[in-house]
Amino acid sequence: MINQAKPHAAKKNQPMIHRAPWVVADASSEIYEVSQDIIEDGAVFVYEGLIRAVGKFKDVIKEFGGYPIQEHEHGVLAPALINSHCHLELSHLDLVEPGKDQTLYSDDPTLWIRDLLKARDNFSQNTIDAEKQILSNGSQVLQHMSAEGVGFVGDIGNSLASRLIGQGQSTKVCFLLELLGLAKESEAKSLVRLGEVFSDDSLDISCTAHAPYSTTPGLIQAIKNNGDRRGHIFSIHAAESRQEVEFLQTGSGDFLDFLRDRGGWDNTFKVPGMGSVHYLESLGVLNDKTICVHVVHVDHEEIETLASRKAKICLCPGSNRFLGSGKAPVTEFLTHGILPALGTDSKASNALLSIWREMRLLREDHPGLSPETVFSMATRGGAEAWGIDSELGTLEPGKQARILKVYCQGSMNSREDILEYMTTAGESVQVEWVE
Ligand SMILES: [Zn+2]
Repeated sequence: MINQAKPHAAKKNQPMIHRAPWVVADASSEIYEVSQDIIEDGAVFVYEGLIRAVGKFKDVIKEFGGYPIQEHEHGVLAPALINSHCHLELSHLDLVEPGKDQTLYSDDPTLWIRDLLKARDNFSQNTIDAEKQILSNGSQVLQHMSAEGVGFVGDIGNSLASRLIGQGQSTKVCFLLELLGLAKESEAKSLVRLGEVFSDDSLDISCTAHAPYSTTPGLIQAIKNNGDRRGHIFSIHAAESRQEVEFLQTGSGDFLDFLRDRGGWDNTFKVPGMGSVHYLESLGVLNDKTICVHVVHVDHEEIETLASRKAKICLCPGSNRFLGSGKAPVTEFLTHGILPALGTDSKASNALLSIWREMRLLREDHPGLSPETVFSMATRGGAEAWGIDSELGTLEPGKQARILKVYCQGSMNSREDILEYMTTAGESVQVEWVE
């Protein structure tokens, strides 16, 4: 990774006016009414770890003159990035060769799941201190994310130990323990685990369901209901592949073969006969605290349902490209007023876990998308999905002072230049944490 982690320029809690040629306060003006968007000769006043004012430098200085000023002459100030979907516990699995973002799996995604499970088992069996190694790899990947300007990660894991990966790191991690099981026996085990997690006050985590094709309706509802009672986010992979939808609609195809081979099928699952989002709606688990991840294979009605339920969507363009899953109907999400979030997914389906790269891939896949909206997906969209938009996602008074300085090379002449650069430069973007 080319990005350089540099020490914070300002001492923590010291009042400071940060001035830069451009401040990207909030790039989501295509979707929302915003008070400040992209400000030329802008400034952010920070005090005690919070943003107190954002605006034109001349206006900020009028109100807060007398406080020290830090000039950021060659950079753009922007909010921290949000990685809304990751599995840090899979960071030791390099199933993707660097530079290789095309797939061998598009005809049958279960081949990838088989490879992933095989690699995970091999590692655990053949590595001394495997769990320690897994945590250490996850922690290194998290440090890379922090170095490229990610301030928050939504992390999903199957091992309870993986909740420790984010401890003591500057990037905040919300860990969700993922449960699954489509046969009665595995469902019962997961329900016991769910009960254990929620009855243990020392575990400050929540649970989440893997996917509609791998988790019984009762288990999905139990996890969602427990989460809702506590105000937790519920994240679920949904409508990722054509084969997933085929299985839910017909009860046949690659997923049935896979489940049978793994001993995960006992004929008790009642095939819903509908697509993934229709199915989740029928279970009553779509609301503003549900994040549907991938959402590639959906029809118009399903998009309307997601919008009316105010459910969140997380796109993973890098992972979709590697697995040959297809491209999500992003433009239709936007016309329905849904601002998606962006996630890298894991090292098992993505060569590089970089949100800058995800923006670049999204622009390549959807040339009609505006750079502003793509950047707001990586910031505000993610913060809204995880319910942390009162703290992160934009540069606004009252929010945390997690501010990036982005070096836009020669692309500083106009707001269009800046956003174009930031959403197409990918992993070569260089950043520094200002606060
Ligand atoms: Zn995932």
